Amino acid sequence: MKCDFCGKEISKGTGITFVRKEGTMTHFCSRKCEQNTLKLKRKKRRVPWTQEYHKEKKIRQGGQ
Ligand SMILES: [Zn+2]
Repeated sequence: MKCDFCGKEISKGTGITFVRKEGTMTHFCSRKCEQNTLKLKRKKRRVPWTQEYHKEKKIRQGGQ
């Protein structure tokens, strides 16, 4: 299972599972990721320490 925000692998027994009203589950590896998503409402693509950001960056650099 991977963190929905930063993309890191979450080991069993750790991490936070957040269930939305609609019943969709979101998994976070840490409070930091939880806060960034739910409280700060940051886009993972804009946050330098997520895998999504690095993916985007690579695509951007590779395309030029
Ligand atoms: Zn995370």
